[in-house]
Amino acid sequence: MIDAEDRTLQHGLVAVDNGCIVYVGPNGVDYTATTEIDGHGKLVMPGLINAHTHIAMTLFRGLAEDVPLNAWLENVIWPREAKLKPQDVYAGALLGCAEMIETGTTCFNDMYLFMDQVAEAVTKSGLRAVLAEGMIEQGDPEKGQEALHKGEVFAKNYDRFAGGRVRTRLGPHSEYSCSPEFLRKVKDKADSLGVGIHMHLAESKPYADSVATKLGKSATRQLEEIGFLDDQLIVAHCIHVDQEEMNILAHHRVGVAHCPVSNMKVALGIAKIVDMIGRGIPVGIGTDGPASNNHVDMLKDIKIAALAQKSLYADATALPAKKLLRMATIDGAKALGLDGEIGSVEVGKKADLILIDLNKPHLSPPADPWTTVAHSAMGSDVDTVIVDGRMLMQSRRLTELNEEEVIKEATRVAQELLSR
Ligand SMILES: [Zn+2]
Repeated sequence: MIDAEDRTLQHGLVAVDNGCIVYVGPNGVDYTATTEIDGHGKLVMPGLINAHTHIAMTLFRGLAEDVPLNAWLENVIWPREAKLKPQDVYAGALLGCAEMIETGTTCFNDMYLFMDQVAEAVTKSGLRAVLAEGMIEQGDPEKGQEALHKGEVFAKNYDRFAGGRVRTRLGPHSEYSCSPEFLRKVKDKADSLGVGIHMHLAESKPYADSVATKLGKSATRQLEEIGFLDDQLIVAHCIHVDQEEMNILAHHRVGVAHCPVSNMKVALGIAKIVDMIGRGIPVGIGTDGPASNNHVDMLKDIKIAALAQKSLYADATALPAKKLLRMATIDGAKALGLDGEIGSVEVGKKADLILIDLNKPHLSPPADPWTTVAHSAMGSDVDTVIVDGRMLMQSRRLTELNEEEVIKEATRVAQELLSR
């Protein structure tokens, strides 16, 4: 987790200057620092990267439980989303940011509504994010045009926002809510803006099947035909893709965000991640929105990812701890095209770091650090969080956000939404 070679270091020192890592190596080097963090008994690693979420959906946490995706979306989520106001999204996003910081996430990839509000929450919280305004066309070209315009304006205005910590993308919702004609327009726009694309793909079998019936081919093949696939695209889920479609995604170097908890909770199936990784597809891990998870604690989800793949393939060697942690850090960064900047503890990278407190009963006695983090640690073991060289949490106390106020305001908004 230290670098590209997966080296680990005992009694090491990490020095940060101007938001970047300037030294990683043995302790004993004489640095004069304005701030020193005693890492004794702690483990330093890259901040976790949540490769797919809709963070403001904290507002809907616990509202629709034990129901299938179509009922979840159509009966509960979409009607409530229609009543959302910008300030609601801000409150929900801020709550999600607090939760992410407290569980060790330093960067998240998000698609939702009123994304300017999410960008503001990112500014306030100090986190890093890749943000896209969600676009749904549903066969209505006028609606599509309007959505594309909104998405374009957001992508233009907020790229490099928050001191460069925000990067933007275009966010067509999915293959079942956007036509190939619309997606082609989205791709042209993304290319002209120089931004990537974030969308859902092959999440639900009934939706994937209905698209395939309509098009006479799978959505992945259709996307290839319209020139939509390249390394600027990250797709979430990919549960219902066959081996040939995986070859297509690998050939075009498309990034995948695997969201095991959300997928299993809504009973959509388990993506064949081992097959994707075997083809060289960069696969990150996402929590998906807090309404279908019901948290954004990446350390919980990576363990479940491993258990699900081991069970799916009946193979205990599937997704070993080292690979899991790479997926939650550098592979997620790669899927987002940010592996040159974040995802590992290396000189020249942004100082997005977390410290895990190892002095806990469930983390003792000391074992292989990869296994300790991947299978024993919990989000609440994260002690310190640093993004861009700035401390966002120290000794489990948030430094940029007032936790009590953030919880209170989001709770007020969520309750008010129910009566709206
Ligand atoms: Zn999603």
